[in-house]
Amino acid sequence: MAEPYGVCERCGRDVHGHIRVVGTDLGDAFAVLLLGDPDRDWICCDLCNALLCHNCCSHPETGYCDTCYAKIFRRRRRRR
Ligand SMILES: [Zn+2]
Ligand SMILES: [Zn+2]
Repeated sequence: MAEPYGVCERCGRDVHGHIRVVGTDLGDAFAVLLLGDPDRDWICCDLCNALLCHNCCSHPETGYCDTCYAKIFRRRRRRR
């Protein structure tokens, strides 16, 4: 059963899929892994924490919303 995780801030669509936190006991240390569900259709922007569905994000693989992506990867070359 896929219950909605939240709502896209831009289009208002329900988004699904969770990030699972998996802890592994290594003896002396404890490792924590974040595993995204393969059917996850949203991102939480690393910079502004915006929750956006993949339809509203041009670069979901980067983990940033479009606004922050533009800030980080400025491709505006206004020199001319
Ligand atoms: Zn959306
Ligand atoms: Zn952002």
